[in-house]
Amino acid sequence: MAERLFESPAYPTVPAGDALYPVHRIFCVGRNYAEHAAEMGVEVDREAPFYFMKDAQSLVPSGATTPYPPGTENYHYEMEFVVAIGAPAFNASADQAKAAIWGYGCGLDMTRRDLQQVARNKQRPWDLGKNVEASAVMTALVPAAELGEIGPQRIWLSVNGETKQDAHLSDLVWSPVELIQHLSRFYHLAPGDLIATGTPAGVGAVKAGDVIRGGIDGLPEIELTLGEPE
Ligand code: MN
Repeated sequence: MAERLFESPAYPTVPAGDALYPVHRIFCVGRNYAEHAAEMGVEVDREAPFYFMKDAQSLVPSGATTPYPPGTENYHYEMEFVVAIGAPAFNASADQAKAAIWGYGCGLDMTRRDLQQVARNKQRPWDLGKNVEASAVMTALVPAAELGEIGPQRIWLSVNGETKQDAHLSDLVWSPVELIQHLSRFYHLAPGDLIATGTPAGVGAVKAGDVIRGGIDGLPEIELTLGEPE
């Protein structure tokens, strides 16, 4: 059997109770809160959700300090409700989609907004803006049953103690179950897949030295400190 030329990295993990949840893929939903879509100068498309992806290797744990990334002068925070898949789902019904959810966590979808907007305006893919090294920040996961029905929970984010984003999960255009039903028409969803469900209004830029905190009722709070560029 041929030898591997180099060691391949293991899947990164996030804490999940007493265990670790290995992360395989990170699906991210675009424009899933109407007020955020409006601040980006677009309307929500109720016909179908759309997605982009981040490499699992871009995951960093809540509490980390990450360097201000290269190639941007407009690095933005996006606070997000994240769904962790715990069972296979393909062409899932609503009941199957619900049963496929292991749990939930808080995430930050850190974004090179200037590069995303250039790409958007030129109708190019968003990878340079979105699939940024160390841009997928995650808390520990909480089992689905502990959070209960999705809707009344407040979702918020602050920068250096000043509140920037403040909404509720009932503001989501597409619910977790609807997203899993839709995504599972295109992918064989499996344990290890995270779905970051989009960000509320109030996104903005951060700079080196800023401390970002966020929370969703019933989930652990998230924190990220921006370091100097490398
Ligand atoms: Mn996002």
